[in-house]
Amino acid sequence: MFNSFEPQVLFQEVPDHISLCFTITGCPLRCKGCHSKDTWPSTAGTHLSDERFNRYLTQYSQYVSCVLFFGGEWCLEALCSKLKKARESGMSTCLYTGLNDVPDTLKSLLTYIKTGPYIRTLGGLENPNTNQRFIELANEQVLNIKFQESSLNATT
Ligand code: SF4
Repeated sequence: MFNSFEPQVLFQEVPDHISLCFTITGCPLRCKGCHSKDTWPSTAGTHLSDERFNRYLTQYSQYVSCVLFFGGEWCLEALCSKLKKARESGMSTCLYTGLNDVPDTLKSLLTYIKTGPYIRTLGGLENPNTNQRFIELANEQVLNIKFQESSLNATT
């Protein structure tokens, strides 16, 4: 099963990009303090077939520069086929995963990855103490500082 909610256009989850974001349901990690418990049942949302995904890509391609998946690494084949299509369409790609690492086959289709489970006491990417990492894979550069800066700008 590879279900998603309706996609959203997001501005802050991938630095310097406007992203078309797909939340894939069925996350098996069950982090304490998860803000997205509605995404846990794999039956939530609607099946994201290649056909449905391609339709969204065509619909949004002139408005976005990146395709972002919240989860989905538990359905490797389905996720890889979507990422491949996104890359062929000239998009950057990003995965937010709660895992600390993912298979190389998946990384080879990603421009960016956010790794690490959510740990309430350590916070998210805007927190300097977080366990999570936002990485640009081509040069393995950790870009957490960009999230900390934009969080500071939002509060000043
Ligand atoms: S990885 Fe994300 S969606 Fe999954 S349980 Fe953890 S915080 Fe929730």
